[in-house]
Parts: sequence; structure tokens; C-alpha cells
Amino acid sequence: MVLICLLTLAATVTSTIASINEAEFAPEDIITKDVAIIGGGASGTYAAVRLREDLNTNIVVIEEKDRLGGHVNTYVDPISNISIDYGVEAYLRYGDTAAFFTRFHVPITPYTQSPQTSVYVSTTSGSNLTSYTAPSLEAQIGAIATWLNLTEKYANITLPGLWNFPAGSNIPSELLLPFGEFAQRHGIEAAAPIFTVVSNVGIGGIEKVLTLYVLFAFGIPVTQEFLNSSLFVPANLSNSVLYDRAYNLLRDDVILQSRVTIGERSANGVKLVIQSKNSTSKKLIKAKRMLFTPPPSVRNLEPFGLTGNETAALSTFTGTWSFAAVARIPAIPAGYSVYFYAPDATLDNYLGIRDWPWTLSITTAPKIPPEEHLFEILFAANYSLSHADAKRIITTAVQNLTISGTFASNSTNATIDFVAFQDHNSILWRQPASELRAGIVQDVYALQGQHSTWYTGGLWSEDYTGNVWAFTDSVLPRLIASLHSNGTR
Ligand SMILES: Cc1cc2nc3c(=O)[nH]c(=O)nc-3n(C[C@H](O)[C@H](O)[C@H](O)COP(=O)(O)OP(=O)(O)OC[C@H]3O[C@@H](n4cnc5c(N)ncnc54)[C@H](O)[C@@H]3O)c2cc1C
Repeated sequence: MVLICLLTLAATVTSTIASINEAEFAPEDIITKDVAIIGGGASGTYAAVRLREDLNTNIVVIEEKDRLGGHVNTYVDPISNISIDYGVEAYLRYGDTAAFFTRFHVPITPYTQSPQTSVYVSTTSGSNLTSYTAPSLEAQIGAIATWLNLTEKYANITLPGLWNFPAGSNIPSELLLPFGEFAQRHGIEAAAPIFTVVSNVGIGGIEKVLTLYVLFAFGIPVTQEFLNSSLFVPANLSNSVLYDRAYNLLRDDVILQSRVTIGERSANGVKLVIQSKNSTSKKLIKAKRMLFTPPPSVRNLEPFGLTGNETAALSTFTGTWSFAAVARIPAIPAGYSVYFYAPDATLDNYLGIRDWPWTLSITTAPKIPPEEHLFEILFAANYSLSHADAKRIITTAVQNLTISGTFASNSTNATIDFVAFQDHNSILWRQPASELRAGIVQDVYALQGQHSTWYTGGLWSEDYTGNVWAFTDSVLPRLIASLHSNGTR
């Protein structure tokens, strides 16, 4: 349990790098707002629209990239002019998700997967995993229906987010079982492939991950929507359109390509120095509250001068390194999906498919003319690696597909040309059961509102857009109440 130091709580929290001298800023470079939102991805954009348009609160969004949308990545193929959404693909209807699309006049349509021939190959050799047969559709549906039956009773402690999650012996003991034991006990091993492919959970071995964390990855809403086939996508538009339209609405209150370099936080508000990537100009933002939406790692929060108890709680998370790409791969015929599974995945061992430190899937990009051989790639690892490292592993894996004879080779086709490549690194709950019992969830949630700092984003809820928006809707009333409670409004 993290010890809360009252002295630290009471103090103004200042970055250790430098302190802010307001006199150094020209009046036109000082922006005064109710709420400063850090990050303009799914949760930051949603929060900005809700706060400014619905909750009568003035805001500013600080986003480090040159666009809003976070994990939404769209590549427009210059040959066919067709868009490929190679990050976020489809949306849950959970909460008010569909209504947010309607608000921006983005029509939606049910998500359908384009038919593909699936090939399962070994991560080590690229050869066909002849010992592996994917579970039948019936077996998968049966397993995830059982999973839903077993977990629905936990909605009140896991949705939206962990506000009501218990500590100590009040944590349901089966949630603290390793997932392998839970799955075997209930005969739901056939759910492992879909859990891992959809949510990327369990890199290095899903059987060792606590059942609670598998529930965070493939929770009640996503399970229901898979069973009901109710996922949706924008109709005839890319996923980026929603964020482009949100940007058009919010434009005057969004600062792109900028980061906070120094933050000072107290119970009465925050002061943030903003540095643009493309110029030496700096701005000072004075806001009554800050809403932090990127992964709340100690590193990401460094400029804000974390206190001891903040550092203690936030340093318990585990990193995750993932990359999404589009690549031209002549060796793989169009219409194929290639899943790289651990060599010990077998018909009898669905739980073993992730017993490897990285995972890779290569799927045909939908609607693209077959002669283009364009594929979407998802690669993730349970260790830190750079873009170059990730590209090297993917390239070797593709070369192995022809060396092993999985796909026919000739002198020119064992190549891979990355036409788009993005990293999606984040952090995950992976603390052991002992820390959960000792109250780490409560310690982390106790940070909400401290030093005028509120949080939302993928760490705080199940990490799907709909869940993150629903969680954001649970933070905003608390944030607004805090604005009123100490008379800062
Ligand atoms: C490859 C991939 C595919 C996915 N597919 C789906 C899907 O099909 N359906 C679905 O519902 N969910 C999907 N998800 C999950 C979904 O993307 C997340 O739930 C959602 O994006 C989380 O929102 P967020 O605001 O927490 O993070 P993000 O959307 O990542 O937003 C965080 C933002 O903060 C910015 N930022 C980071 N650090 C700073 C800083 N210091 N200063 C300023 N800005 C900063 C980032 O640039 C980013 O724009 C997918 C995730 C990944 C990685």
C-alpha cells in the first residue's frame, strides 16, 4: 500500500526542472482556461467536446502530434485512393459511442470482416504450425458466451473503470487466478485466440496473466458486442473523419505539435509551460484543472513534478510496446491473414499461442486491389524496442515465410516495404495479486483530483474507444464538482 504523505499533498507540486516565471511571458502568450486537457486522442478529444459544448467549461487541448485521434491511423493508398484504417478499426456501441458519431454527422454501418484465409505460422521459423488447428466458430462462441456468464456479475466493480473495485479479501478470488487455471476450470480455452487477436492481451503467455487483467482486456461490453455482432464503423468514411471534424469544431482551443515542458500544480490550479515542436515560442497556460489523458507513466508525467505518493502508485505499471503498420509484401497472396503463434501452440493448447515475447499478425488490407499486396500489420512485444528493432523482427518474420516454404518464393518477392508505421506504446495493469489485495487500485484512483489533476484514458478503463469515452463521462462530473467545491469557479 502506498503511504500518503500529507505534507507532500499540501504543497504546491513543481517540476524539478525549473520553476515558472510568469513575467517572462507576453500577455498574448498567456492562456487562461478552466481545464487544460493533455492529449487529443480518443479520450482527450471526447472530453474537450463534452466540456466545451455540453458542460459550459472553457478548455485548451495540448496534443504532441499534428492531428487529433491518437491510435486512429488512416493511410490513403495513393494508387487506389482507398483509405486503410490500420490503427483503430471498429467501435463498440457501449454507452453513447454511436451518438458521438451522429453528433459529427458521421454515418455508421455494422462492422463486417472481409473474408480471408487464415494461416498460422511459427514465430521462430515462419513455417505452418501443422500441430495447430484454430477452434471452430461454435467452440469460440460457446467459450466467450461462458466467459460472459462468468464475468457479468463483475460489471459493478469494473465498469466504467475501477472506481468501485474492492481491496483485500473483498476482491473475488477467481479474478486473481492465473487465466490458464480459470480457463481450464471452466473449459473456455477456445476463447484464448480471439482474446489475444482482438485485444493483444497475454504477450509472453496469456495463461500466466491474472483473470482480472484478461477481463480488463476483453471485458463485458466487448464480449457482448462480439456475441451480438454489434460493432460498427463509419460508413464509407475513414475513422479519421470523426477527429478531423472534431478538430474543425475545437480548432481555436487546440494546440497541436506541442508538449508541456514545465508544470506547476496546486489545489487551486495548474500552470503549464507549452513548447511547440516547430518553433522556440513558448506559451503559459493557467488552468483551474488539468485532465491528463496519455498513459500516466512516471516518464510521461515527469514535467509535472510528481509527488512521492504519485510516483509510488504510477511506477507499478508494466510497459507494452506495440506498432501498427501498412506494408507491401509481394510474397503473401492477397486475401490471406498470417498469424505468428508461439511454436508450442497446438490443437490441445490454445492457451499456449502467446508463449513468446512478441506477437505479429499480417492481414490483407480490405478493398485494396489484390495486385497491390498491401497488408495491415500489428506487432507487439513484452519488452522495450525501437521502431528499427520492430521493423527488423517483422522483416525477418516475413522472410521466414518464404524460406520455410509457407509461401512460394522467387528472387524478388521476399521483401517488405513499410508505407506507414506508427508506435502505440502504453502501460498496463500487471501488478501481482498481493498488490491488488494491498490496495494498489485504490492508491491509483486516489490520485484523481489531487493537485488539480484528473485523469482519463485507456489505462483507467477497458481500452476500447467506447469504454474510454464512458469512463471520461464518469470523470467529468467529478472534475466539474471540484471546480465548484473550492470556489475556483
Ligand atoms: C493498434 C490499435 C488498434 C486499436 N483498435 C481499436 C478498435 O478497433 N476499436 C476500439 O474501440 N479501440 C481500439 N483500440 C484502443 C483505442 O485506440 C483506445 O481505447 C483509445 O485510443 C484510448 O484513448 P486514449 O485517449 O487513452 O489514448 P490515445 O487515443 O492514444 O490518445 C492519447 C493522445 O495523447 C497524445 N500524447 C501523448 N503524450 C503526450 C504529451 N506528453 N503531450 C501531449 N500529447 C500527448 C498522443 O499523441 C495521443 O494523441 C486500438 C488500440 C491500438 C493501439
